[in-house]
Amino acid sequence: GSTWSNVEMGPPDAILGITEAFKKDSSPQKINLGVGAYRDDNGKPFVLECVKKAEQALTSGNLDKEYAPIGGTPEFCLETAKLAFGDNSPVIKDGRNMTVQGISGTGALRLGAAFFSKFYSKGKDFWIPTPSWGNHTPIFKHAGLDVKSYRYYDPNTCGFDFNGAMEDIAKIPEGNVIVLHACAHNPTGVDPKPEQWKEMSALIKKKKLFPFFDMAYQGFASGDTVKDAFALRRFIEDGHEVALAQSYAKNMGLYGERAGAFTIVCGSKEEADRNMSQMKIIIRGMYSSPPIHGARIVTKVLTTPELKNLWLGEVKGMADRIITMREKLVAGLAKEGSSRNWQHIIDQIGMFCFTGLKPDQVERLTKDFSIYLTKDGRISVAGVSSSNVDYLAKAMHEVSK
Ligand code: PLP
Repeated sequence: GSTWSNVEMGPPDAILGITEAFKKDSSPQKINLGVGAYRDDNGKPFVLECVKKAEQALTSGNLDKEYAPIGGTPEFCLETAKLAFGDNSPVIKDGRNMTVQGISGTGALRLGAAFFSKFYSKGKDFWIPTPSWGNHTPIFKHAGLDVKSYRYYDPNTCGFDFNGAMEDIAKIPEGNVIVLHACAHNPTGVDPKPEQWKEMSALIKKKKLFPFFDMAYQGFASGDTVKDAFALRRFIEDGHEVALAQSYAKNMGLYGERAGAFTIVCGSKEEADRNMSQMKIIIRGMYSSPPIHGARIVTKVLTTPELKNLWLGEVKGMADRIITMREKLVAGLAKEGSSRNWQHIIDQIGMFCFTGLKPDQVERLTKDFSIYLTKDGRISVAGVSSSNVDYLAKAMHEVSK
C-alpha cells in the first residue's frame, strides 16, 4: 500500500457534524442551534458596521501586504491589552504586559500553552472546569500539558456549582494552572457572580495557583466590555499574576479573520521584554507572523473614537438581542403550559445556554422538529430569532413534558 494507507478515518467534529446534518434537512422550520456564531434576527451572519467602516478606511489607505512583526503590531497589542485590563490599569501604565497577537482565541491559547510548556516550572497540570469548551483539552495537550478538571456546572440547578468548585480548587496542588472563562462560560452560559469571583480569587491566591483566563466573549455577555472584564480586573487588583487569551471572533464578529491576543502579566517592563523575546522565538517556529487584515480592522476600530463608540453600541446590540431571546423563549415555554422551571435560561449569559434537556430529548428535538443542537442540550441562543422562538418553545415543551 501507499505510505498513508494505514491512517484511519478520524471522527467528524461534533459541532460541524451538526451543521452538515442541518444542511441536509429539507424541513422549512429547521433551526440550527449548534453554531457558535452570532446571527441577526433574520438568522443571517452579521458584519458589524464599525468593521465595514474600518475596512473602507483601510482600503482607501492603500496599505501594503508586508509581514506583520512576529508578535503582531505593537499598536494592536497595546489596544487589545487596554481593552482587557483598562486604560488606567497599572499593568498597562508600567508596561508589565507581554502581549502578542494570536491566531484568534484558539491560537492565543495555543501560544500560551506553548509558553507555559517551555517556561513554567511551578506546577505541571492545567485545570479546566467541567464542562469546558471542547477545544481546551486538545489545545493544551497538543502543547504537551496535562489537563485535569474541577467541578463547575451543577446539573440539578443548571447553575454554577460554587461549593463544588471551591472544594475542588482547594485540593489543586500548589503551583498548578487554573483555567477560568472570564465571562460567558462556554458551553454552559453559567458565570460566577462578582462575590463568588472575589472568593475564588482569594482561594486561588492562597493556594498559589496560576490563573489563566480565557476571554473569548468580552462585551458579549452583559453588553458592556468593562463589566465583562470584572473577574480579570479583580484578579489583577488582588495581586495575581495572570495569563490571558483574547479573541475578537465574537465581540467584533471577526470569526474568520483570526484576530486575538495572548498576554502574560510580568513583574516589570524589563521582565516583559525578556518574555517577549522568548515568545517570539516560539511564534517564529510555529507560523512566523500573524495575519494582518483582522488586526488592522481591530486597531482601526479601537483607535478611532467614532468607530469605537459605534462598536460598543453594536456589541451591546448583539448581547441585548440574545438576552431578549432568552426571555422570549422562557415566556414561550410558559405559554405552552410547561410546568418546568426554565429560569436558568434567563440567568445564564452569553451565546450559549445549557437547557438541561437530556440526550433522548435532544434526539427527539432533532428527529421530530428538525432542531439541531449538541447532545449535551446546549443551544446557541444566537440561532434563535423572533420568527423561530415560538416554534422552539413549542418543541422544547413537547419533548420535556
Ligand atoms: N475560548 C472559548 C471558551 C470559546 O468559546 C472560543 C470560541 O468558540 C474560543 C476560545 C476561541 O475561538 P476563536 O479561535 O474563534 O477566537
